[in-house]
This record gives sequence, structure tokens and C-alpha cells, in this order.
Amino acid sequence: MSDARRELPSVNSLLETSGVRSLLAHHPRRVVLDAVRSAVDDARSSGDAHRTEEQWIESITSVVRRNTQSSLRRVINATGVVLHTNLGRAPLSEVAIRAIEEAAGGFSNLEYDIETGQRGSRYSHCVGLLRQLCGAEDALVVNNCAAAIVLSLNTLAQRKEVLVSRGELVEIGGSFRIPEIMARSGAKLVEVGTTNRTHDDDYRRAITPKTGAIVKVHRSNFTIEGFTADVSVERLAFIAAEHGLPVIHDLGSGLILPLEAHGLTGEPTASAALASGATLVLMSGDKLLGGPQAGIILGASSVVAKLRKNPFARAMRVDKLTLSALEATLRLYLEPERALKEIPVLVMLTEPAAEVESRARTVARTLTDGGLAAGVTATSSSVGGGAFPTAEIPSSAIVLEGNAAELEDKLRRADPPVIGRISDGKLLLDLRTVLAREHAILCRAVLQALS
Ligand SMILES: *Cc1c(COP(=O)(O)O)cnc(C)c1O
Repeated sequence: MSDARRELPSVNSLLETSGVRSLLAHHPRRVVLDAVRSAVDDARSSGDAHRTEEQWIESITSVVRRNTQSSLRRVINATGVVLHTNLGRAPLSEVAIRAIEEAAGGFSNLEYDIETGQRGSRYSHCVGLLRQLCGAEDALVVNNCAAAIVLSLNTLAQRKEVLVSRGELVEIGGSFRIPEIMARSGAKLVEVGTTNRTHDDDYRRAITPKTGAIVKVHRSNFTIEGFTADVSVERLAFIAAEHGLPVIHDLGSGLILPLEAHGLTGEPTASAALASGATLVLMSGDKLLGGPQAGIILGASSVVAKLRKNPFARAMRVDKLTLSALEATLRLYLEPERALKEIPVLVMLTEPAAEVESRARTVARTLTDGGLAAGVTATSSSVGGGAFPTAEIPSSAIVLEGNAAELEDKLRRADPPVIGRISDGKLLLDLRTVLAREHAILCRAVLQALS
């Protein structure tokens, strides 16, 4: 046996130390035991047995801390990308958070009709609000927009052909590709037109007795410019009606209120998309709508009823927490001014640049008072999440002096992690995506990580 091995303390002797005893008082025994074993194993494999008791406790404590931390953690989004899919997309409004709390802590009438005392339907919640807000005849909520696409195609076009323009065969992100999802839904993709130009006749020529639907995919995360042509949903609805076919419009973003007054143009609202004549409009709950992750299907009652009966609907059904948050979020839209003030995504998208700048100055002052070299710079934020792909929203960011890569790394390991953006060799913390309610947490985390 080597010297190093002989000098290793036993697991039992470490468990007797006062440092480990105090860990045992606060953490599950198996977590502490695993940490002690892994610290001893580490020392054995690195041949580094000469440690003071204090050093042993330090390494055991850091393993315990790592293993007791939640895997899913809150982070501060200072990237300036409002709908950041990797950072969980839409933060919820206070009322939606309260609704989740209420639904989570007790029982609910999820599938119970309080009027009659009979079994109810989970699909009834949110339908009334979606009808009112989007002008839909009927609605169905599933887990996300991807599920909405699968369910719609599987119900309306299984073993049939579905026409899609070559300019819309897109990847949404996270390897979610329209052609692949269609194949899995049991529909056969028929490409029409070219990447830059698709005409009415391209669709007309492709329609056969085997055609089941025409799909329109909203170009949500890119634009095509130059020599282009596109067939509008209105035209598609007209062509489809000649053959009794449904038009499925994968809208993605899910805008309820127009944001033109705030400089954001080009994204159709859900009600405009429906009014264009699509049979079904599909959208996400956690993009521009600003609610929980969900897929919302809007359309004619006769068609939505078919979707509801598909056994896949059961496999894609939403839980009570999602429904409670979605209902509370939708209810805010009944008063548009309130929606703009209380739904975080809308607050971030519409806050005047001067106000973001003033918040940035306040945060910068707290950081400089804490001894950091921090300034404020003008920058621009983006919408993200597959919506308004080219929009640049004027914003203000904190610039931290120092090596940008090092600062980025330290802030990523802060508690909570602060995720910034490197631009022109500087680390920026864009304040447009940091809510006022997060200022104190942001300052504390940054000062702790960099002091
Ligand atoms: C984002 C998006 C989707 C996927 O939505 P999820 O809710 O993330 O499943 C589908 N289609 C379009 C056009 C999108 O923008």
C-alpha cells in the first residue's frame, strides 16, 4: 500500500468530526455519507492525502452543496433576449403565480362540474376566454405548440398528403423540424413551390384525392427578402374550400394584443390569423402570450371536437398547474392596459427605452457603491422565441470593466446565476429583460460573485 493510501482517514473517522456532524444536522444522512465517500475517493485517486481536517470539511461541504442544490434553478436573464427558450421563455405574472399556488396546494374542479356534481371536462377550462379573446368558435389546450401540430395532423391528415410550401419547411429550434414532425404524425409531406417563391397554382396543382390538409407555417424565426412570393392564408383558405380541405396555420408566437404602437410590427394576432380563414390556428402559451408552456388550438367546433376525441389528446393533455396559470394570464387580457402592465413579457417588450436606462443607472449606482467598476451603455434587445425575428428594441445595459469571458464565467456561477451577453469584447447585462422586482437579487448576486 502506498503512503498516501495509508494516510487516508476512514469514512467513519470523518463522520465523527464536528464539521461533518454539523452537516448531518442539516442534510440527509445519505447525502453527507456520499459526499464523505466521494471526498475520500477523490483524495485516493489524486494521491493527495495530506489534508488538514479543515480542508477535508471544506471539500465535503462543497460536494454536499453541489448535490443538494436543485437541478432546475432560477437564473437572472440579462441577455436582452426576452423570450429565451434556454432560459425558460415567459416569466409568469403575479396573478398567474398565485393561481398556480392555489391549484397546487389543494384539490380543484379540474374534471368536476360544480353545478351538477357530475364529472366535468378539463378541456372546458380556458375555452370561454380563448373564444372571447381570439374570436374562436372552440379551443383546445395541449402541452405545447409541437403537440398541437402533431395532434392536428394526426387527426385531420393521417395517411393523407399535406401540402407545405418549400419556403416554410423550417426548423424551430431544439431539432424540431416541420418535415420530421409531419412524418411522425402519420401525414405525408408534399412540398410545393420553391424556397423563395410559392404561388396559388403550386398548391392547386398538388391537390389530389389523397390530399388531407394545407399547412401554413409562420416564418417565426427568420425572414426571406428579395425576389419572393408567398400565398396568404386568405388565398389558401379560398383554394382549400374549393376542395373541402382544412387549412392548418402554425402560428407559433401567439400574439393576443397588437404591439404596433410599441414599434413591433409584422406579427399577426391570433384573432387576425383566425379571421384570415384558417380552419385551425396553433400557437404557444409561453411565447408572446406570456403564459405557461402550452399549445393552444383555435378553430371550428366540429374540427376541434375531432381533435378532442383523438386518443393522442389524452397523451398530450395539460395539467392543472398549466391550466390555472393560463387562465389567469388570459383573464388579464380582458383589460389590455392591465395585460401590458402585469404580463412580464409584455412589460419587457413595451417598456420605454428611457425607463430601462433609468433602471440601468440605478443598478449601476448600487454596483459602483459596492466597489465595482460598472457603467451604462445603450444597446438593443431582441424578442427571441420565434417572434418579430428582425426587431431591435432600444435598451440599456450595465457594462462591467474587466475580462469579459472571465466575468461571464463568474456571473454564470453566481447565486442565482446571472446570464449576460458579450458584445464587442465587453460583458453586458441588458436591463430590459431584468424585471424591477429582480434588481435587488441581481445586485446582490453580482456583488457577491465579483467582490
Ligand atoms: C415556437 C414554434 C413552435 C413550437 O412551439 P412549442 O410551444 O415550443 O412547441 C411551432 N411552430 C412555430 C411557427 C413556432 O414559432
